[in-house]
Amino acid sequence: MFDESKCTLCGECLIKCPYLAYPEDKAKIEFKKLIDGENTPVTTDCITCAACNMICPEGANPFDLINDRQEETGSFKITEAAIRMFNLGSALPSKIIKGKPEKPVMSICSLGDLLPGVLEGQLFDGLTFLKGGKYFCYFGWIHAGRPSLLKENAQKFVDTLAKTGAKEIILFHDDCYAMLTNKVKEYGIEVPFKPIHIIEYLRDYVKDHIDQIKKLNMKIAYQQPCASRYTFEKDNMLDELFELIGVERVNRKYDRENALCCGSIQGSMLNVSKDEQEEWRMRNLIDAKQAGAEAMVFLCPICVLGLRSRAKAQGLEPYIISNLVRVALGEELTHGGAGKIFK
Ligand code: SF4
Ligand code: SF4
Repeated sequence: MFDESKCTLCGECLIKCPYLAYPEDKAKIEFKKLIDGENTPVTTDCITCAACNMICPEGANPFDLINDRQEETGSFKITEAAIRMFNLGSALPSKIIKGKPEKPVMSICSLGDLLPGVLEGQLFDGLTFLKGGKYFCYFGWIHAGRPSLLKENAQKFVDTLAKTGAKEIILFHDDCYAMLTNKVKEYGIEVPFKPIHIIEYLRDYVKDHIDQIKKLNMKIAYQQPCASRYTFEKDNMLDELFELIGVERVNRKYDRENALCCGSIQGSMLNVSKDEQEEWRMRNLIDAKQAGAEAMVFLCPICVLGLRSRAKAQGLEPYIISNLVRVALGEELTHGGAGKIFK
């Protein structure tokens, strides 16, 4: 939630925005318009990457204000196809796939099946899976300029997960974790179970099976999802995991606070051309390559779909993070590092 009392109108959020990069004077003027509820091109041109929430030196959460204004004005336009995709998220059939009672519960929400061939191997053996529209967290709707849908559906989302009776639930998707550890606090909703991020699960699994780990001695570039802006504290856990499996996260321009969008959001925006979308994607991948990476590692399935083929074409082997861990555990990947590709 935007905290106006913290905002000094310094304009940093719009100056350092990778996509808008306004000069200082303009940044200050346009941000003031956002506060005052006046029309500004920011609401149309912002690509909803949420980076400015991290950029703001005061912790005022400027993106949350931009997102609210996008909804109020209806000025953020995405394609009908993208809206259908978001609606599908909550409409998909749901089921609980029962595993062994002593093993953890994992929610794969409605995105778990997007990458066939990924939920395999010892990391996932015996887990109970929650899948489908009932377990959709609605966080993605920020990218359609509809943040009110998160608030409207947050309690239902928490209650549905809580109904499983699990004390801890692993979240396969970064969005669900951001919803349960950040957004719900803003809405005053209590979570009666412990949300475990997939990175935490993987790190602890590796620690518990360290004798099986063969260090990969690999240099990788990491594609940070936008929801991680809300839960950046877990970046230390990620670095720990990489170290445990012998992976060097290359030091590059577009990582951590400066991470770029995978391009999927831009691709759905009506005022962003395919050429512009492609240009940003290539900037990201070329940066990874120039920094010496040999592989591109993903956390979010949507980022995988947007970048895996392009990464491969650049000589960067794509991996979703759990598959990289599987390789370190000595497992064969039957469908490659980033899941099966349907032609
Ligand atoms: S959300 Fe991203 S694109 Fe939008 S203003 Fe903030 S940094 Fe810029
Ligand atoms: S939201 Fe933060 S970065 Fe943006 S103008 Fe206010 S204080 Fe500055």
